[in-house]
Amino acid sequence: MAASKSLLDSLKKPEPTNFRMTDFRRELHLRHKREEHAKKEKLRALQESKYVSRYAITIDTSRARSNCDVLRMSIKELGFKEYPFGRKDNCCDVHWHACHFEENPEVFGGKVNKFPGMSEICSKMTLFRCLDIMRDLFPTDYDFYPRTWYLPAQFHEFSCEIRKMHERRVKPKPTFIIKPDTGAQGDGIYLLREPNEYSSLSGKCHVAQEYMSNVYLIDKFKFDFRIYVLLKSLEPLEFYICQEGLARFSTLPYENPTNKNIHESFMHLTNYSLNKRSSTFNRSDRDDEGSKRTLTSVLRRIAMNGHDSNKVWKSIERIVCKTIVAIVPEMKVEYQAAIPPGKTGPSCFQVLGFDILLLQNLKPILLEINASPSLSLDSEQEVSPGVFEYVLSPKDEEVKYPLIRDTLLHVVPIDKLKYFRKKKKQRLLKKLKASTSQKGKRPDPPVKQRTSIVIIKADESDEEKREVNVTQQMSEMHMDVDSHGDGTARDVNSDDERESNIKSDTELDEEVDNYFETKLRESCLKQLYPAIYDEECERYRILERVAGLFIFFLGIRGSLRIGPTGFRTFARKCRLNRKGMTNASVDIMYIDLQRRWDHMNPERTSGSGIKSIGKKGNGLCYQGFLDACIEIARRKFYAPTKIEMLENLVDHCELNLNLRDNDLANNLPRLHFRRLGLQYRQGSMYAMPRRVIDQMTEETTIEDLLKAHEKKLRQPSREDIEAFLRKSRRMIYQPSSGSRVISVTKSPDSE
Ligand code: ADP
Repeated sequence: MAASKSLLDSLKKPEPTNFRMTDFRRELHLRHKREEHAKKEKLRALQESKYVSRYAITIDTSRARSNCDVLRMSIKELGFKEYPFGRKDNCCDVHWHACHFEENPEVFGGKVNKFPGMSEICSKMTLFRCLDIMRDLFPTDYDFYPRTWYLPAQFHEFSCEIRKMHERRVKPKPTFIIKPDTGAQGDGIYLLREPNEYSSLSGKCHVAQEYMSNVYLIDKFKFDFRIYVLLKSLEPLEFYICQEGLARFSTLPYENPTNKNIHESFMHLTNYSLNKRSSTFNRSDRDDEGSKRTLTSVLRRIAMNGHDSNKVWKSIERIVCKTIVAIVPEMKVEYQAAIPPGKTGPSCFQVLGFDILLLQNLKPILLEINASPSLSLDSEQEVSPGVFEYVLSPKDEEVKYPLIRDTLLHVVPIDKLKYFRKKKKQRLLKKLKASTSQKGKRPDPPVKQRTSIVIIKADESDEEKREVNVTQQMSEMHMDVDSHGDGTARDVNSDDERESNIKSDTELDEEVDNYFETKLRESCLKQLYPAIYDEECERYRILERVAGLFIFFLGIRGSLRIGPTGFRTFARKCRLNRKGMTNASVDIMYIDLQRRWDHMNPERTSGSGIKSIGKKGNGLCYQGFLDACIEIARRKFYAPTKIEMLENLVDHCELNLNLRDNDLANNLPRLHFRRLGLQYRQGSMYAMPRRVIDQMTEETTIEDLLKAHEKKLRQPSREDIEAFLRKSRRMIYQPSSGSRVISVTKSPDSE
């Protein structure tokens, strides 16, 4: 600031009189001054950063608020560097925000722990609308959440449904739960049985849901699970599930809803924030007791009751996958609005909290997603009547601390992490050498090492793994010592024993490998996508392609809504007029859908269910555009199922658009597959793994590539696509001949 001020002052000073203002020497003079100023600034920045190693992994916690405790613990454990007040230049590797992506708009690099617009996407209306769209396309697969109505817009449909149920004399008498769209912690939630009990006086939007009364009970109490999920990246899609979570119990024994107990929130709602106020809240520290328990203890209990808890867990994993796939198109639209292509911005990751209820038949039901799940480690305790104190909650610590520690290890820059590990390895080697040279003296157990080496990214290259293995080897040896106790444990002084402790290199290697395997298994984060559910979820990803079309035709970069001109351009460029759609019918459809979507959510001007400050206004939101696509598909691309119709439309549009190089990059694999008469897996762009590309020779056949492709399907990075493009551009345009479909010739620019 001071430096820039001095520059301004110097610029204001009268110029030397020996040249005129228009003289080119003035320009030179000014340029010289600017350069001098830049140099000084650089020097200052250098001095500032002198104290922090270039390889230090830096975390900005200035906006972490209630997440600070757990974050600080993890940072300390991992040996990273915390910036509790942020950095002047905002250049940290990770910026931790408590609520929103937009909390610090000055961040242009590193990673932020929130995706743009995520809290709006996770609001009840938008989330269930996303799921409804998927249920419409895949009715049998998206049956894991209660039937939902959006009020006040769908009040008529809602009351008709209740009336019909009454007429059918459905037993037990149906009950519904009303929740405010953006509510949390049980605020504003109530149960009702008659539509006239709904009050729209507040002017707020609500969702009405079927109340699931036949829930699984433990010790007569209702409970729900809080499952933590790390959404590591959007493009390529990658997410993990935390294998430990929480179970939150209600504090009044559960009974089916009746007119008498319908208002008992301690019986029907399981929110911790609500039930902790109850006089019967049980604060037991035991894992399998109390009103808050660990997920695994409840699963164990379910197993003890003779049920298949593994099956329950698998169903939960599937729900997580399907739900994330359902919200990804919305997330992509929001992401391009916040960070339009070409603009520099941070990349994002996010820890989400899924609330899941278990029915009597052990079917999990999704209740909601929390974009900012509570990460605080302490709980309120009543020390004397009316006097509360915050105390560390061991159960929260047990769940949230490994979650955040492992999350950090997943998201920090890999090159820095490598360097960090190398340094650690060197230190350990040094210690080890010193300890082995001192006969009879065991090295000090590096207790901290245990956890910091535990989690190694599953997607590391072999080279990294090897390097880590050595680190593991070192820590294993220390661990051996550690496991023997305080150094005085069994036969410490026996020379023979010591001799046998010095193992051969291969033995050590093996041991380290085993250790590595075990430790990898110990990570609390398990990759769900793409590692496990890649193939299963592939067909659900069709809507991402619709979102791609929507983004393509957004007139203004970074906006969230498509205007009438954009919509007309969409119809023209995708040659929908050749399919019999006139300009007039396109315009009418646009106006109709825009009105309908604005009516759906009057609370938000954007009408998409996505509030984005400064980006509101007129236009058709993504979900309206999706409706338009479904309608066009139904009219012009008829097929036996909705999903096939939509696929036909999207294929048609993409084929008409992929003439430009950029789009070609995205569509290459798809075109390639189609040209070969193979079915392309829907929804994502796959490219060859770099390893395969590098091994491509003149003799490579399509069979080889397909085999490799099948073996290791993964989402490509930009470099992958570029490399793939470079190497395969020729073969794509070369006519195929017989069974040898590809003859790969190296393009001149590939060297
Ligand atoms: P909030 O965001 O306010 O916590 P939730 O959707 O999580 O709202 O609902 C709060 C609680 O209400 C849940 O923890 C659960 O116990 C109960 N609940 C919510 N929806 C249903 C439902 N459809 N059937 C039965 N119980 C429900």
